[in-house]
Amino acid sequence: MRIDVPDDVLEKWQNIVDTMAKLIAAPASLIMRVVDNDIQVFVSSKTAGNPYRVGDRERLHQSGLYCETVIRSDHHLLVPNALEDDDWKNNPDIKLNMISYLGFPIRWPDRTPFGTICVLDNKTNAYSDLHENLLMQFRDVIEQHLQLIHMNVQLGIAKAEMEVLNHQLQILASTDSLTGTLNRRRFDEIFETEWRRAAREKTALSLLLIDVDHFKHINDDFGHLRGDDALKMVALVLRTMAARAGDVVARYGGEEFAVLLPNTSSEHAQQLAESIRRAIARTVLFKVEGGDITSTVCIGIASQVPSHAGDPHSMLQAADTALYRAKLSGRNRVEI
Ligand code: GH3
Ligand code: MG
Ligand code: MG
Repeated sequence: MRIDVPDDVLEKWQNIVDTMAKLIAAPASLIMRVVDNDIQVFVSSKTAGNPYRVGDRERLHQSGLYCETVIRSDHHLLVPNALEDDDWKNNPDIKLNMISYLGFPIRWPDRTPFGTICVLDNKTNAYSDLHENLLMQFRDVIEQHLQLIHMNVQLGIAKAEMEVLNHQLQILASTDSLTGTLNRRRFDEIFETEWRRAAREKTALSLLLIDVDHFKHINDDFGHLRGDDALKMVALVLRTMAARAGDVVARYGGEEFAVLLPNTSSEHAQQLAESIRRAIARTVLFKVEGGDITSTVCIGIASQVPSHAGDPHSMLQAADTALYRAKLSGRNRVEI
């Protein structure tokens, strides 16, 4: 991962190299950064005669650069005069007339190399202990900045992970685990919101309450697990049939479901309810040795253009009353 150094930190680093170069009276002080397989001039002192430009980069591998040695050895390097040093007399910086070098490694908090901080001079320079000390102190400051940057990145990652977890948790808290539809708590919230929206926009809102007929018999005859399968099947049919954007299917109670249909007139709600009733009656809820098990549902409908004076609860009651009527009149029925 490439971690960006924020502008306010870069400004401080610029200050560091400018101060360094001035104090040592050298033409160049640099912060170098390892970028992929390259080493790059990351910050360069604004001093007369400095030949290095920010962004200049070289392959790190066998570059022959002073900085490569500092990074590889993870140790500081002092070259007072490269021209008099067999190891250094052919290094690339000589072309730029930079014949002396003092540099320290800069590391990320996990000790992997960030790059170097260094000074370069166009004349022999053995650099004093004071200079070495100064450079080391600046290096420490830079490493502290890196630690903060690293911590911020980690915090950002942790925050993003938390957000994903929270989102998953929210979904879990809103979902009925058996059928995968919304649960009653979430349904009530959405119902409230949709009610107010419909009142504001003066659009029709319809609600279906759906209750499986004689469901107790299914449990009694085939066991609770088969009953669970049947509920999953009913939920699947409802989700398939009430699938327009904005439609909401929820498990409202044991074997009772609610379907909220925003922007849906009473006529359309009745048509959909009829289709659902017929579809459920045709659906094989589960198979047993003796054959296919089916069941039926009753559906109570409430439909209205909500007004701010009214409330969602009365609409729910209306649907419940209609459902009760459907049960009374013999089941497998839709009532409004
Ligand atoms: P009606 O036609 O009047 O609606 O009759 P019913 O038997 O469907 O109604 P009743 O309210 O008497 O029974 C509902 C049954 O639904 C009883 C309860 O055990 C069962 N039930 C509720 N939740 C679950 C569930 O999660 N799984 C299973 N298998 N059964 C459930
Ligand atoms: Mg019931
Ligand atoms: Mg029932």
